[in-house]
Amino acid sequence: MRLCDLAPPHVRGIAPYQPGKPIAELARELGLAEDGIVKLASNENPLGVSPRARAAIAARLDEVALYPDGNGFELKSALAAKLGVALAGIVLGNGSNDVLELVARALLGPNTSAVYSEHAFAVYPLATQAVGAQGIATPARAYGHDLGAMLEALRDDTRVVFIANPNNPTGTLLGAGELHGFLKSVPERVAVVLDEAYGEFLDAAQRAPTLAWLVEFPNLILTRTFSKAYGLAGLRVGYALAHPEVADLLNRVRQPFNVSSLGLAGAAAALEDHEFIARSKAMNDAGMSQILEGCEALNLSHIPSHGNFVCIEVGADAGGVFQALLRRGVIVRPVANYGLARFLRVSIGLPEQNARFLAALGEILERA
Ligand SMILES: *Cc1c(COP(=O)(O)O)cnc(C)c1O
Repeated sequence: MRLCDLAPPHVRGIAPYQPGKPIAELARELGLAEDGIVKLASNENPLGVSPRARAAIAARLDEVALYPDGNGFELKSALAAKLGVALAGIVLGNGSNDVLELVARALLGPNTSAVYSEHAFAVYPLATQAVGAQGIATPARAYGHDLGAMLEALRDDTRVVFIANPNNPTGTLLGAGELHGFLKSVPERVAVVLDEAYGEFLDAAQRAPTLAWLVEFPNLILTRTFSKAYGLAGLRVGYALAHPEVADLLNRVRQPFNVSSLGLAGAAAALEDHEFIARSKAMNDAGMSQILEGCEALNLSHIPSHGNFVCIEVGADAGGVFQALLRRGVIVRPVANYGLARFLRVSIGLPEQNARFLAALGEILERA
């Protein structure tokens, strides 16, 4: 028997996560300069890092010889003050991906199941499978979550439901009313993970009062991230908000120093940079309009999105279009692995990046 054959079947069966292609990798492959490449593939903030976060990180560089505060007191205090939640209800993660894995490790395992939707974020099936639990993917409705189908899919052994709102990669959004009705219908023994990675890009009127729901539903777990609107994807900071007993459970399976000192400092400062968040949202709204107008001019349809990205239907040869964009120095994201073989997902960039993408796409499709 070979070593790798002896790994548990659920581990051997995991399909690896497919990240966006790094700029440096494409530059090497094409022999291009890195600054000639546009990456609109990972929903990163095109404005870069918040100036306040940048200053806080620079001020703390000398601390990297020391272990970080394993309790993350400074960041948790800032979150508690801003959100009006108790420190005991916050769990910090090395990105919110880490938090999703903590949920899986704490609540799932063999002989349990987790429910998520078709076309939903790839980490849900990954985290579920990694701990030997069974994933149940329910069919989508108009590319988004079908909450009725998800409710029907719950089994006695179901411990977790994952919902991304807005969802990645489709950008679909569930309304507050239907979400609240869903939470009321889910038995308390099932955790509902509401992943709000793109919440900052919503208009105020589109936001569900999820913080208030934490008090009403002890089985609700909210997850959020500093990787998207806050511009700190490389530092890896995210968090969960939950009932203190649930938070305590998640903290038990957390690595003691899972968030770096620079991540903690940068996130705490970014949280206070309201101007940067407002500017990021305004930039995203304008860029979304620019891309959608460009798609309309090219006669391409799309899935209406509430995030900082949009799925565009480029046709049966989406893989070929993706490759042709790469050759023109534009990196977007194929989403065939999400069951969206006719689409490409493009992240909203700076105006000139969006224009580069649209011009390249027009050339490739010969519709310009
Ligand atoms: C990007 C993303 C995350 C956040 O990932 P991090 O680990 O925080 O960088 C979480 N959920 C969804 C749906 C995402 O698209």
